[in-house]
Amino acid sequence: MGVQTAPVHRRGFISLRGVTKSYKTGAGEVAVLKGVDLDFERGEFVAIIGKSGSGKSTLINMLTGIDRPTAGEVWVGDTPVHTLSEGQMAVWRGRNLGIVFQFFQLLPMLSLVENVMLPMDFCNMYSTRQRRERAMRLLELVDMSEHAHKLPSALSGGQQQRVAIARALANDPPVIVADEPTGNLDSKTAEAVFALFQQLTAQGKTLIMVTHDSSLAQRAGRTVLIADGEIVNEYVARALPTLTHQQMLHATRRLKPMHFPAGATILQEDTHGDHFFIVTGGTANVFLRRPGASDVMVASYGPGQYFGEIEALRGGKWRATIRAAPDTPVDVVALDRETFVQLLAESDATRQIIEQVVQSRLAENVASRL
Ligand code: ADP
Ligand code: MG
Repeated sequence: MGVQTAPVHRRGFISLRGVTKSYKTGAGEVAVLKGVDLDFERGEFVAIIGKSGSGKSTLINMLTGIDRPTAGEVWVGDTPVHTLSEGQMAVWRGRNLGIVFQFFQLLPMLSLVENVMLPMDFCNMYSTRQRRERAMRLLELVDMSEHAHKLPSALSGGQQQRVAIARALANDPPVIVADEPTGNLDSKTAEAVFALFQQLTAQGKTLIMVTHDSSLAQRAGRTVLIADGEIVNEYVARALPTLTHQQMLHATRRLKPMHFPAGATILQEDTHGDHFFIVTGGTANVFLRRPGASDVMVASYGPGQYFGEIEALRGGKWRATIRAAPDTPVDVVALDRETFVQLLAESDATRQIIEQVVQSRLAENVASRL
């Protein structure tokens, strides 16, 4: 079934490879992260979502070095975070990461400006005079400079979180990591925090944010869904959003990645087919044969769109030919028919949507062949 080569392996600016985290409990060893492979590019704004207990905070803590993997590697830029000693970790973290927590965690005895100066003091960044000036400028950025000399307890939650963001920016780190930063804020304040994050990514910072708020998550540049300590394939989540997280994870485990060079035939009309395909890169063009005339192109599918659902659902031979666009290679993930049919049997909502797509695509095909 087509040309199969492994996709090019490229490591992102931030990279987790085979990250496992398990805890020993009374009931034995519990795996919380199960071999996570994940990459983030410089300047990306990524939302990490998933049910409570799925492993989001554990994942974030691997990046910040607050916690260590049981196995696997965590790279931030050229730094192998998983190998740093406690002392190295504290210095590296202070200079390279801004961390924002759900409960702000400002020091209660220090004024706001002193809280923001703290990371600069700790890492011995900037001169003593510059530190105060810089802290004031950061408080201005988050619209809190008029409160600079108050204690955190005098502020609302939203105000404290803005100060915590100013503190995270103290040493001008390239990466900001935030674990449910809007979890304790009303929606208007959450919106302001989100806007601030967008502004930071526009300036080139890499932002990784765990959130419960799916409407905020959708507005990040990318969403990473974690279920039961594993990353759900993002194209499965996009193509089949009505599956449960558990079902998406089941599909993810069974995916076969495939690569097709520009112009290559992915599947050929009238040959036998038994897979469902989701495009993960490039453009796949759909052609129909017409009696006594040349093939006609009827559709194009990009990342997150799928094909092969008609045959996977109803059986039989491919009803169209699908080729990689002439100028770009195509990457797909293929799901075997048995798994696809089983998922549809378990998810009424998904089956209904796929049935509708089948109906409308078949109708289009009939019209196009005339
Ligand atoms: P999330 O942030 O997605 O809600 P967490 O990463 O906090 O999830 O936790 C994932 C799972 O790991 C949970 O089942 C939690 O109980 C378990 N867990 C987290 N920390 C520990 C620990 N120190 N010891 C044992 N289990 C833990
Ligand atoms: Mg958490």
